[in-house]
Amino acid sequence: MSFCDYHSNKHSRWTCTQCHKNLCDQCLVTEPNQGPVCGSCGGQVEYTPNKADVVPFWNRVGDFFAYPFQKDPIMLIAITLIIGVASTAIPFGWVLLLLWVFVQTKYGFSVIEKVANGKMEAPSLMDSISGGGFELTIKTIGVFILTSLMTFGASYLGAIPGIIASLFFTLALPMSIMILATQEDLISAVNPVNLMQAMWRIGWSYLLVYLYLIMMAMCSITLLGMLFEWFGLVAGTLTGVASFIYFGLVMYSLMGYLIHQFRFELQVGPSENDLKVRSKNNTQETKIRIALADGRFEKALDYIESEIKKPSFNPALLDTYQKTLAFTQHRDRLLTISEIVLKNLKDQDLSLYFSRILGEIWKHEPKWEMENGVQALEFSQYLNDVGDYQLSFRMLKNIYKNQRDNETRNDMLDLMAKLLRDNLNQPQMADKVLLIKQAPTQRKHTQVKKMPTQPSDSNDLKLV
Ligand SMILES: [Zn+2]
Ligand SMILES: [Zn+2]
Repeated sequence: MSFCDYHSNKHSRWTCTQCHKNLCDQCLVTEPNQGPVCGSCGGQVEYTPNKADVVPFWNRVGDFFAYPFQKDPIMLIAITLIIGVASTAIPFGWVLLLLWVFVQTKYGFSVIEKVANGKMEAPSLMDSISGGGFELTIKTIGVFILTSLMTFGASYLGAIPGIIASLFFTLALPMSIMILATQEDLISAVNPVNLMQAMWRIGWSYLLVYLYLIMMAMCSITLLGMLFEWFGLVAGTLTGVASFIYFGLVMYSLMGYLIHQFRFELQVGPSENDLKVRSKNNTQETKIRIALADGRFEKALDYIESEIKKPSFNPALLDTYQKTLAFTQHRDRLLTISEIVLKNLKDQDLSLYFSRILGEIWKHEPKWEMENGVQALEFSQYLNDVGDYQLSFRMLKNIYKNQRDNETRNDMLDLMAKLLRDNLNQPQMADKVLLIKQAPTQRKHTQVKKMPTQPSDSNDLKLV
């Protein structure tokens, strides 16, 4: 039993055909218009049998006894009783009865087939009635004829070979039925080598199921006797037939389940359920997690950036992003996407993340300024609203000098003055800021390009 290469405590269910990694369901990604692929390299994956997918029949015994209590099996029992009664009243009723026995057998095989595929919902009775396909019933008769012939043949060699053959085919009978249900081949179903091999692969569980089957057959017969005593001949027969079919269906479902449980040993292939991916995971986040686990940090950063540029992203990704940036010494990457990330954070009203990212930027790149003045003013107002006055002021204290648009510039200075006066406890500075605002803007306008490179003048605000 192998484990996922990315989850040491999870069983792997897939192997990548390209990078040969063992993967669990959570380590697959689903690309648009494509089935699930390897989360590491995007290669096709193959299902690899996993014992953890197998629930042994002894943990599901209750399900087999409950199996006949489904719509179609109950209908089967009801119709059998109706036909049973009707066949005594009409001429050639036995023909009808015989045909119905064929339907029942066919239905039994569909039960085995469906349960063998891991499905406990009963098959449709209508499908067994219509559409012909009674070969399996005829082949079942073939199994009895051929095994009897072989037993007779063996008894010609002596008493002991006869007894051995008889015991063997009796023991192998459920296996013959199971092979018939899955392979639909009469010769395989009676071939002693084939039967021996299949029973050997299942091992002692086969004997256990065999005991169950004998037990149920005996229950059925004992019950029949009791029903005759209790209800008399007619009612006893009817309830007896019902219980006979009930136990038959329990046995069919159990045989089907035995095939399902040992599907890998019997090489019948994975069931549909095996091939289902059982967790719905976020494709991008899986790719990020696996790229990080693989040590492909640049790729991981690319994935994270493409995510955090989206309007509503999972803010937890920012933690991963910051850690990865710090670890790989790539902090400068944050600067290239900072404005859009900040805008997304503001739009989602994630003020703590907003302040944290901004603080991180200025901690490592003190000269960084926003490019878009209108946006900077908006951010500053947002920071003011959420009570982060220091950062709100810092956002504007240099950028106002670059503003050509008087209105924006004046709004910035107003906000700065307000912050200084009301929140930062610097009323004198606030007055100075308002003086800048009143200065002739025309002159400022011509000088504006030089402003950022000029050394600090008296108006510069060394606050933050
Ligand atoms: Zn791969
Ligand atoms: Zn995994």
